[in-house]
Parts: sequence; structure tokens; C-alpha cells
Amino acid sequence: MKFYDTHNHLQDGRFAGRQGELLAECKKSGIARMVVNGTGESDWPQVAALARENKIVLPSFGYHPWYLRECTPDWLANLKRFLDSIPGAVGEIGLDRWKPDLPYAGQEEALLAQLRIAAERNLPVSIHCLQAWGRLHELLREHPRPARGFVLHSFGGPAELIPALAKLGAYFSFPGYFLHERKTRQRESFKLVPPDRLLVETDAPDQLLPADRILHPLASLDGQPLNHPANLVVVYFGLAEILGETTESLARRVEDNFIRLFGAVA
Ligand SMILES: [Zn+2]
Repeated sequence: MKFYDTHNHLQDGRFAGRQGELLAECKKSGIARMVVNGTGESDWPQVAALARENKIVLPSFGYHPWYLRECTPDWLANLKRFLDSIPGAVGEIGLDRWKPDLPYAGQEEALLAQLRIAAERNLPVSIHCLQAWGRLHELLREHPRPARGFVLHSFGGPAELIPALAKLGAYFSFPGYFLHERKTRQRESFKLVPPDRLLVETDAPDQLLPADRILHPLASLDGQPLNHPANLVVVYFGLAEILGETTESLARRVEDNFIRLFGAVA
């Protein structure tokens, strides 16, 4: 079986230079590819370097809404420069009305500017959305999108929106965090995702799995628990249980979906 991580942040500083070790463990676990998402100009160089050094890494460049205040005046030109320098995707971009004290002003403009670049180049996009689903749907409907589609990473939006978003080209990515008991609504909504639009992710080092499911424990230098990217396999096990199918058949489907969306840049 081959496993595909649609969304992680292998470049994250909390991994403290242990990326080589983590990747070795991922390969041993059967992970064939991972999309490593940059979050802003400060980490795009590390994402590009990881991709140059490791075939398993598919780089993705974008400004995450949490870091928009760090944008330099040349950020869009810089983004294009990274996308020109290595085959990759666009992300993580998005809308966030959940994070306390995060200004919403400017988020839509940044999302649309990056979405436009992805549409022009027909690159896959990874979108983050918290508490802004109605607005995201409107913006996606009214603006150019990449013809190949886009990922709604850690999809936790209203189940009623799934058909409309799928019609626009959405893929829905399931994180291990939804295996926590209380995430019933999110788990149920994944039963409604069209089979050809389903993807799986770790979002490592974030979105820890329930403690009893973790196969690869990991901590930061200061002792904070981190999500190891090799835990992806357990996320597949958990999602297969929810959907009532074997991990093998789920893995085959997710492989097809991943390659359909990300294939041309691989
Ligand atoms: Zn992320």
C-alpha cells in the first residue's frame, strides 16, 4: 500500500532539524508523497530546499492567513519566483475568522491574488478555512479557480455545502485530529464526500491524533507533543473505519485522487 499526505508542514521549526529522520520513518511506513505547505516568505526557501533534496516532498508555496502581516511589498512577485523555480502547488492560503485577534481585513484579497496565480498556471491549491465557509464558497464561485481542482484541507465546513463545493472542483482532506471522540460532526460529514474527492492528511506537526492511536510519538525540544508525519498511516486506518471499507480500497482511491489533482506537478 502507498500513502499520500495531502497537507503537512515538514519545514516547521519545531521539528528542529530532524526532517531527515522523520522522512526516513515516513518512507519505511509506505508514504509515497507528501505536500509540504509553506506559510509565508520566511519558510518558502526551506520548503523548496526540502523538495530539492527529497523526491517524496511536493512543495507548496503560499501565504497562510495567520502570517499575512509579515508580507513584504514584493510578496506576490516572490511567490511567482518560487513557483517558477520548482514544480509545486499553491498553499497554504485561506480565510480565518476563528483565530482570536487575527484581523480579517486583507485576507480575502490575499486569497484571491494567490488563487488567481493558481488558476492562471492550473496548479493545485491547498485552502485553510475556519468559520468563513459561506464566504469562501461565494469567493470560489465568483472567481477563477484552477481547472484541475483544489483541496479544502482539514475540511470542517457544513455538510450541506459539500455538493456545491465539489461542483466547483473541491477535494476534501481528512486529518487525524477528527478521530478525537468529540469530532462526530466532522467524521459524519466525510461520509458525504464524493469518493473521487477524498484525500488524507496529517497537518504535521499540528493536529495530534488521540493518544491511543499514535504510532509515532514525537516531542519538540521543549517537550511539547508534535504530530509525526508518519502517523499518516493511522489516519488512513481511522478514516477506513468511519467509511466502513478496507484500508486497501481507501488507499487505492486516495492514490487515484492524489495523482489526479497533484500528478502533473509531481
Ligand atoms: Zn496547515
